[in-house]
Amino acid sequence: MSSIKSIAIVGGTHGNELTGIHLIQSLEKSHVTQFADTFDFTYVIANQPAVARNIRFVDVDLNRQFTIDNLASTDTSFGESNIAKMLNQQLGPKQHSKTDLVIDIHNTTAAMGATLILLEDSPFYRNMGGYLKAHMPSANILLEDEISYLEHPYLCTIGQRGIMLELGAQPQGVSRMDVFLQCTEMLEHILAYCDLYNQNTQPQQPEFTAFRLLDVVKFPLDEDNQVAGLVHESLLDRDYDKVEVGAPIFRMFDGTEVFHTGDQAIYPHFINEAAYKASKVAFASALKFKW
Ligand SMILES: [Zn+2]
Repeated sequence: MSSIKSIAIVGGTHGNELTGIHLIQSLEKSHVTQFADTFDFTYVIANQPAVARNIRFVDVDLNRQFTIDNLASTDTSFGESNIAKMLNQQLGPKQHSKTDLVIDIHNTTAAMGATLILLEDSPFYRNMGGYLKAHMPSANILLEDEISYLEHPYLCTIGQRGIMLELGAQPQGVSRMDVFLQCTEMLEHILAYCDLYNQNTQPQQPEFTAFRLLDVVKFPLDEDNQVAGLVHESLLDRDYDKVEVGAPIFRMFDGTEVFHTGDQAIYPHFINEAAYKASKVAFASALKFKW
């Protein structure tokens, strides 16, 4: 069992998600965490050109550039692919990383509260989720293990281990203190868990409720490929609430409803996420499970 010594805390991977940026600026100005002497911290503002312009990215989404193929490519045409390679040198390299844990902080415009996104079903991550849920019951644990940890294109995967903190609802380019405080609380619990993990004093967590990514659901489109309806009014601001088979999920502009036709209830999240507008994604769906 390898211990957690080096931790990178990353913000500004998306330049208009301000909580992580402000958290890092505050940590650097010595508003230190109680674990300042426990770990070797590196603080990183990942996409500085995008942060300077208060936009998600300049050329391409930085948080999709960390596949093994992308990091190995010699293509230098996109600003973000160069930033990815630089960060991979600084914190990684992916698969053989010098950083034990990368914590990448994001905001969402969806009402997802404090969500911990984990990418692998293993005891380290499972117990982290259980520990967070036990100490911060309002937090949501979202497991995205539809592909392996290393196959994910996310920045955090350049660490030996990597997680994402997703906090919302917060508009793009805006920074809310309630969201900042939630992020701080979440981070302290995660660091406390890592400290206990290192001391081997963290007991196996009892079963807890979590969500597992199922799919992304696109807006209904018309024959001209234009959005022809919106997320149903009954789903708004209700991320992680249960949607039964047969319940409405969209209302078309002509007033008719579109119903959830799957074979099981789903738990929508990232509902109306602003960053997904270009890809016409209305929300992501998850299944609820006991982990
Ligand atoms: Zn983000």
